[in-house]
Amino acid sequence: MRSTMQEAPLLVREILRHGAQVYPTSEVVTFEGDHFRRASFAEVAARAAQLAHGLAELGIGQGDRVGTFCFNHQEHVEAYFAIPSMGAVLHTLNIRLFPEQLKYVIDHAGDRVILCDAAVAPLLARVVGECESVERIVVVGEGDTSAFAPLGRLAETTAYEDLLAGRPEQYDWPVLDEHEAAAMCYTSGTTGNPKGVSYSHRSTYLHSLASTSAATLGISSHDRALVVVPQFHANAWGMPYSAWLSGADLIMPKQFLQAEPLVKIIEAERPTFAGAVPTIWNDVLRYAESHGSDLSCFRSIVCGGSAVPRSLMERFEERYGVPIIQAWGMTETSPLGSVAIPPRGVEGEDAWAYRTKAGRAVFGVEVRVVDGTGAVAPRDGRSVGEFEVRGPWVTGSYQGDPSPERFHDGWLRTGDVGTVDELGYLTITDRTKDVIKTGGEWISSVELENVLMGHPAVFEAAVVAIPDERWDERPLACVVLHEGASATPAELAAYLSERVARWWVPERWAFVAEVPKTSVGKFDKKVLRAEFAKGELTVVGAEAGA
Ligand code: ADP
Repeated sequence: MRSTMQEAPLLVREILRHGAQVYPTSEVVTFEGDHFRRASFAEVAARAAQLAHGLAELGIGQGDRVGTFCFNHQEHVEAYFAIPSMGAVLHTLNIRLFPEQLKYVIDHAGDRVILCDAAVAPLLARVVGECESVERIVVVGEGDTSAFAPLGRLAETTAYEDLLAGRPEQYDWPVLDEHEAAAMCYTSGTTGNPKGVSYSHRSTYLHSLASTSAATLGISSHDRALVVVPQFHANAWGMPYSAWLSGADLIMPKQFLQAEPLVKIIEAERPTFAGAVPTIWNDVLRYAESHGSDLSCFRSIVCGGSAVPRSLMERFEERYGVPIIQAWGMTETSPLGSVAIPPRGVEGEDAWAYRTKAGRAVFGVEVRVVDGTGAVAPRDGRSVGEFEVRGPWVTGSYQGDPSPERFHDGWLRTGDVGTVDELGYLTITDRTKDVIKTGGEWISSVELENVLMGHPAVFEAAVVAIPDERWDERPLACVVLHEGASATPAELAAYLSERVARWWVPERWAFVAEVPKTSVGKFDKKVLRAEFAKGELTVVGAEAGA
């Protein structure tokens, strides 16, 4: 028997319509370095319509890719709605990609128009002249765009405001097939070329609903959401859409992503919710502690992208009463996959055992652990294997690149290794490419890092595998100390041996000025491994200082 329900495709235009109609006075706030710029949802929706008219006039039609090379700001939110809703495909370009990779993803996606922040025009100009699909650059904001001048057909750019000016504030958003692509993101391609993931209207709609749920991030019209995670990093974890559909204000920091301006934004705008990777919160905390800043405005913060150290969560909570909620996800999973909310009735010290994990699957995402033989491992919290996931907002292939080795019977192989327990909590011990195999056993680099970062003298710690004649591989701990703090390898090794198995404790240590970061702010372990291989790290033994 067929149901009696109406057919209504799940489209990004519905998110746009709902936010604009139901929460017209909610606002998008953009930090401009010395002041804040504000626009209501009603105004942003009207400008999204103008943008769509402007893009249509540039020849953008259904299925065409429009790139954005932008920080987080109001115009980028307008692009998030206009481009998918008109039937084109939003392709968020990572501002920090190496030139060859940037060129590769523009070519691969076949972007026809690129919206580019004036502030980063020179970065795009380095490669875009060679990208044959690109017909026009639209410049967002003020700044020197002379870098485009020598680029022949791209020399003449269009100012974003000119593209919008005088155009109708309504657009007849088409009814689309919900399975069509709405947006694209490329993975950062730590090995080989980046791989493209395209989100459908349907997956975006469902993911947005899931991330507002009280079972996950609980975003509502009572919130003001500070979106630190870049809009080019897995759609800013979907926050522009989830905040919009639930009426939460969006606070956008533009290129001001250092601790000092972020704290300034927090103190001035008092967001109640925010999302960023652990390295950002670590920097913000260090700054706020040393400047007596107030971070108590948040009801909660979501943090993920890499393991969140317990010490970071504890300090935020003790000092400011703000819980940091750990979440796990990937570009390939839209990205929300799991959220670490403890089971009911578990509080205090017991809750930490859950909060320090990657969490439980969000409704809509199914997770399993598969062992080295390809068999599904029991959900016992002990059996280790690779996580595999599936669900309506998990990618089933890569754009123009089937990559069969990344899929297994319809499940996405995540490249993350760990366990799942009886209650469904995932513990990630490593990424497959970062595991340390020593004497046939695995050491979790993530756990070593988390424990080390709990030492009062340690600001950051990254642990990588280095070759070892006897054991195959052994851990090398690369440590950044807090300013003015001191600790010897012997002290740190002693601290570790009270907290992890003795055979895990690194024999080799390197004190570094900073841990290299990837384009989205994660520890870049392949750089550390390369530096070690080239003899560029000063390595000392664990007995040093004993
Ligand atoms: P990249 O490959 O550039 O890091 P993604 O942002 O898609 O791109 O990263 C996804 C990966 O980030 C996951 O596969 C996982 O290894 C890591 N990750 C995300 N959240 C967590 C978390 N809470 N704990 C540990 N690792 C995480």
